[in-house]
Amino acid sequence: MHEFATVYKPYNYQIISAKGRLPVTTTTEPIIVHSIINGEKVLTEKRIPRENPSNGKEIVGYAPFNTKEETVAAIEAAYEAFGKWKWVPVEERIERMRRAIEKIKSAIPELSRLLSREHGKPLYDSEGEFAVSLMWMEFACDNAKEVLQQTVKEHEKGKTIITYDPIGVVSAITPWNYPISLSTIKIAPALLAGNTMVLKPSPFAPLTVSKVAEMISSEFPPGVLNLVHGEAEVGVELTSNPKVAKIAFTGGTKTAKSIMKAASETIKKLTLELGGNDAAIILKSFDVNDERAMRRLVISNFLTAGQICMIAKRVYVHRSIYDQFVEKYIEAANKWIRVGNPFNPNVTIGPVNNAGQVKYVQSLVDDAESRGAEVIKLGTIIDPEIFDQGNFMQPTLVLGCDYNDPIVVEEQFGPTVPILTFDDEEQVIALHNESIYGLTSSVWGNEEDAVRIARRIEAGTTMINTAAVQGLDVRFPFGGVKQSGVGREYGVEGILSYTETHVINIPTVLDLPYIPE
Ligand code: NAD
Repeated sequence: MHEFATVYKPYNYQIISAKGRLPVTTTTEPIIVHSIINGEKVLTEKRIPRENPSNGKEIVGYAPFNTKEETVAAIEAAYEAFGKWKWVPVEERIERMRRAIEKIKSAIPELSRLLSREHGKPLYDSEGEFAVSLMWMEFACDNAKEVLQQTVKEHEKGKTIITYDPIGVVSAITPWNYPISLSTIKIAPALLAGNTMVLKPSPFAPLTVSKVAEMISSEFPPGVLNLVHGEAEVGVELTSNPKVAKIAFTGGTKTAKSIMKAASETIKKLTLELGGNDAAIILKSFDVNDERAMRRLVISNFLTAGQICMIAKRVYVHRSIYDQFVEKYIEAANKWIRVGNPFNPNVTIGPVNNAGQVKYVQSLVDDAESRGAEVIKLGTIIDPEIFDQGNFMQPTLVLGCDYNDPIVVEEQFGPTVPILTFDDEEQVIALHNESIYGLTSSVWGNEEDAVRIARRIEAGTTMINTAAVQGLDVRFPFGGVKQSGVGREYGVEGILSYTETHVINIPTVLDLPYIPE
């Protein structure tokens, strides 16, 4: 058993925000980011353009389009580097990571702006993503030494030493919605535990994360952190190459299924953080007149234009309060939702990240409407001049759906949410647990009732009277049950998941009495 006294200091970040309203388009040239292979910056002839989702015209920058050969070279470099890196004392690893943290911290204003331009999330949201990322990196640095130290047990049969050894080369594959936090959630513990890594970000937000990876990589020996970009060919190599020992993947459940197949050939270790269809359960004890709680719920549904794995994607309200609830919800949503330019400080919701996602979300809303659901537009469009140029969607509320409609059972991952009714606890627990997913969930109302229901819910995390990132705490493990994932990130488990447990037994009683001479 692992014994440690984890540092539970409060991790709070005050970010000095870039004030003022900036135009969505800048006059600067598109930036070009590199791959990093064995400490060398690599440029490719073929490049992936990243458009600004706020206007669809401006190319914010280009990422490399790496080949299979370059991906193999990155894996080889990580494999070579592992031979030495695994023996570097944890104190040195922590010191290097802390230097990387300082570099990132000092660049937050520029990095956040770049993230908002390539992703579409408002500036406060980009800054928030950096805050969460840095909190986690610091937590990992503060705790790595204690979590990774060997334990020694003296007992009646002798002595046992348990060590937490690095696994080897880790392929880290990340999505576009939170590119910085979902990359650093993997980089920090993997490197601190003595592994080496090849990171592949999503082509839908490849620029800022490349800058961050470059800052981290430059603090470590060549080959410890490598970076490649690309599509299927790169992904397939990263998940099937025999020199890769572990895959840390965040993304869609469908992609994870092909990754598991590829990984099975050489039995790679897996951490999979996948899709969710998180429910918010509103009990009859919920106070519909509590404006702060209602605002938290609206934010749980629409932050980052609904493009978060743990956003509350379906809401079940007790029938006895449904009418008042809907009235107050619409009031709160109309107040908080202000759609427009991510650089307008009054904006709370920017564009959707990519046109494919707009099409998919709209198809779910249209389908619900064609089945007889009522679709209500929420909030205000405060920058109408850019609305039609970018991937903007006005957030919607969908009422009167059936429990099995696609908008209820699928992960919409966009700015729309269905609200449904339930009559009793048994029914709502069953509705919740019928899902193939189980990432996070939330129960709103009297704490005692909420906790009783929470205990019967199948999910990795259940939050009471809050949801999504508002209730996230990097000090505790995060991950999904059922088809929402395998393993945990964050917390002590998030560090140990990059280790293999090695038991060294030194018995004093060497001969077993029941084995004949
Ligand atoms: P995605 O699965 O399409 O892509 C994720 C990454 O996998 C990208 O880098 C992509 O290029 C790569 N990829 C695609 N095919 C691959 C293959 N065959 N082999 C290897 N890599 C491959 O996901 P997305 O659209 O970028 O992200 C949205 C999804 O991510 C949603 O389902 C969301 O719920 C999920 N997500 C989960 C969490 C979590 O912590 N559980 C967090 C954020 C997002």
